[in-house]
Amino acid sequence: MAGIVVVFDFDKTIIDVDSDNWVVDQLGFTDLFNQLLPTMPWNSLMDRMMKEIHAQGKTVEDITEVLQRTPIHPGIIAAIKSAHASGCDMRIVSDANVLFIETILKHVGLRECFSEINTNPGYVDEQGRLRIFPYHDFTITPHGCTICPPNMCKGMIIKRIQASISAEPKKKIIYVGDGSNDYCPSLKLAEGDYVMPRKNFPCWSLICENPTLIKAEIHGWSDGDEFEHILVRIINTNLMEGNSNSATALLFSPDYKLPTISIAAHEAFPRPLPVLQ
Ligand SMILES: [Mg+2]
Ligand SMILES: [Zn+2]
Repeated sequence: MAGIVVVFDFDKTIIDVDSDNWVVDQLGFTDLFNQLLPTMPWNSLMDRMMKEIHAQGKTVEDITEVLQRTPIHPGIIAAIKSAHASGCDMRIVSDANVLFIETILKHVGLRECFSEINTNPGYVDEQGRLRIFPYHDFTITPHGCTICPPNMCKGMIIKRIQASISAEPKKKIIYVGDGSNDYCPSLKLAEGDYVMPRKNFPCWSLICENPTLIKAEIHGWSDGDEFEHILVRIINTNLMEGNSNSATALLFSPDYKLPTISIAAHEAFPRPLPVLQ
């Protein structure tokens, strides 16, 4: 193992758009979405939109077809495959939902790169309607973080990941994200960790307001090519410093052609959920 945990946001980080907006817009429900947005939390609105989309005769297959057309930069796919091949533990922390994320990752052949997907749960009900629920059930107990949306505090998830790897020697976290909800986990990172905010997106702007609040090293990126370059450099640097796995480091460069790797789904993934085919 590389001794590195790479934690990715999903929307506008791994994929180039917001998956919720992408599905709503592509199916022609933008106006209704904008009309309802001021009346309820985003996560509840997505469940409501799935109800409306189903009522208008759109099927799970229609949604799957839209998800499979989601734009992803080839540099992002290459970077994720490289990081996985070099032994990094890869995880997702996202305010999208498990159905959208799994459908997209499977379609582009990246699902097996990730050991854990922390996101809002969902399933397809008997009528064929998608249901989407909050990761954190705020109707029972609020999570108490004032800078995160009520259904998910990504900082709490990072703290859980930190606690779970604390027994292992010298593991570093690389956190990648774009949104304002990626700022809270960025604040939780320790010295020696890295944060990769997408340049000129909300997380980047919040970090720039007072960079001294961030203990991790800050590496901004603009597009998939720059992202791939920076991630590979950080991982290579750590592999060579670690020295325990220099053979891997020597093999591993941006130009290195990766073998096709197939592993069984990791047991750390919370629980099997019905997934769009
Ligand atoms: Mg995002
Ligand atoms: Zn938070």
